[in-house]
Amino acid sequence: MVANEPVTHDLRHLVVQLVEPDEIKFFPGQYMDFVVPGTEESRSFSMANTPNRDGVFEFVIKIYPGGLFSEFLAEKVQPGDRLQVEAPFGTFTLRESRTSDLVFPPAELLAYISQIITLQPGDLLATGTPGGVGSARDPKVFLRPGQTMRTAIEGLGECVNLCVTEEPA
Ligand SMILES: Cc1cc2nc3c(=O)[nH]c(=O)nc-3n(C[C@H](O)[C@H](O)[C@H](O)COP(=O)(O)OP(=O)(O)OC[C@H]3O[C@@H](n4cnc5c(N)ncnc54)[C@H](O)[C@@H]3O)c2cc1C
Repeated sequence: MVANEPVTHDLRHLVVQLVEPDEIKFFPGQYMDFVVPGTEESRSFSMANTPNRDGVFEFVIKIYPGGLFSEFLAEKVQPGDRLQVEAPFGTFTLRESRTSDLVFPPAELLAYISQIITLQPGDLLATGTPGGVGSARDPKVFLRPGQTMRTAIEGLGECVNLCVTEEPA
């Protein structure tokens, strides 16, 4: 913990710096879970700063009388203390695009792929979008276990995949 300053009588500005790992990617609107020391409980707080590469996260936290985490924060947490966190959580849109922007339109793609394999009803073809792939971004963006990826095509439907850790072969 870097700073824990009162903003009003019942609001705190909490600043934390990641130690291990020292950086994680997050998007506006996402949140972090803080474990309440000595308990199995955790509380969620939304990042109040913009994504950065310094591993610094800021929060505005309301103090509730008797609040498990907030009272601990108000009374016990000092700069230099270590807190256990898990992040990022929450939904964000990574890419939004139109099929009209594709280099090869869907009909052309289907015609080409049909020459190589026999497509069955229900088959899905994942082509990527012109917005770019996660591995080509800086920093790179990959799915992590526990995250859900929703791929949707307007008027057609959506496909929801939960990302899980790969079982060793
Ligand atoms: C995704 C997400 C993001 C969040 N982001 C923030 C954030 O950025 N800042 C922030 O301050 N909080 C945020 N919260 C709420 C936060 O996670 C805690 O629930 C809240 O701070 C209370 O935790 P506590 O341990 O202090 O109190 P608890 O021990 O959980 O509760 C103590 C007492 O306070 C009451 N109480 C708890 N929460 C509320 C409430 N919202 N309104 C009225 N009474 C309540 C309880 O009923 C209880 O009587 C977020 C929650 C979620 C799910």
